[in-house]
Amino acid sequence: MNKGNKLYEGKAKIIYETKDKNLLIQHFKDDATAFNNLKKAKVDGKGVLNNRISEYILTNLSQLGIKTHFIKRLNMREQLVKSVEIIPLEVVVRNYAAGSMSERLAIKEGTRLPRPIVEFYYKDDNLNDPIVTEEHAVAFNWASQLELDEMVTLALRVNDFLSGVMLAAGIRLIDFKIEIGRVFEPEFSGLVIADEISPDSCRLWDIKTGNKLDKDVFRKDIGNLKDAYTEVAERLGII
Ligand code: C5P
Repeated sequence: MNKGNKLYEGKAKIIYETKDKNLLIQHFKDDATAFNNLKKAKVDGKGVLNNRISEYILTNLSQLGIKTHFIKRLNMREQLVKSVEIIPLEVVVRNYAAGSMSERLAIKEGTRLPRPIVEFYYKDDNLNDPIVTEEHAVAFNWASQLELDEMVTLALRVNDFLSGVMLAAGIRLIDFKIEIGRVFEPEFSGLVIADEISPDSCRLWDIKTGNKLDKDVFRKDIGNLKDAYTEVAERLGII
């Protein structure tokens, strides 16, 4: 599949067109960014690891009947994906308090939540992706109520799967973020998981030591990011 024009360049990925308007190429860069681009670095090999880890997770999700945009991995850094209409909401699922929830609600990092909590954040870098309610999403036409209900169901299914996979690898899934898009195909019209699921978009703590194996290593300068992501890939049996 030949790469066409660059359609979009984000902080960690580039999206290219292909000859087929329904298919795109998603390229994983080595750039690590945090705090809405205030902190940046190049981490050699991060893109390769995230490409493989996201391929593994999305492939397994589709085997469970959860639809995703992923079609196939093309090479070390690129995958062929469906063109989707991204819903402008980041969906976060939290099992343990951490990050912005710990700050917002003063709950100690690592506190087990009474049940998984699903949150929506409006995708807008200028606003620093603010947390929003379903009321906002429906009123401002970002998604319908029916779609929001389905997004919550999808997010919780991903959470069940991912928590189990990580647990088997000796890793606690603290929280994660997914993006969801709409596809319009003759054989299927509806919502699919888009973007990526990787240590860039999850919090992953070693069950025994509590060591962080995710982007917090970079955010908080507490170790080598490539080593942490390699450890996740190795424990999942990907490399
Ligand atoms: O920062 P916060 O605690 O809200 O992040 C919750 C989860 O969502 C974390 O796993 C974080 O890595 C992920 N996230 C993300 N992209 C963002 C914001 C958060 O992947 N723009």
